[in-house]
Amino acid sequence: MMKRGYVPIRTCRGCGRKVPKMELVRLVMINGALVEDPDQNLAGRGVYCCRNELCRTRLVKNKKTLRRLLRLQGG
Ligand SMILES: [Zn+2]
Repeated sequence: MMKRGYVPIRTCRGCGRKVPKMELVRLVMINGALVEDPDQNLAGRGVYCCRNELCRTRLVKNKKTLRRLLRLQGG
């Protein structure tokens, strides 16, 4: 149902919660570094994460998941 006030939901890859997209930060991999995409318009595959250190740390540590989500090649 698309109606006024529709809120896109994304999954935080740190804690797995489903959260309104605007409450999450989008992260994209650029030249091997995970950077924030504040305007959510950078090219490439992104992952979403809560705006807190705990989730961010969990996400960054979970390299296997990151690789899968971002389709990175090699190590
Ligand atoms: Zn989270």
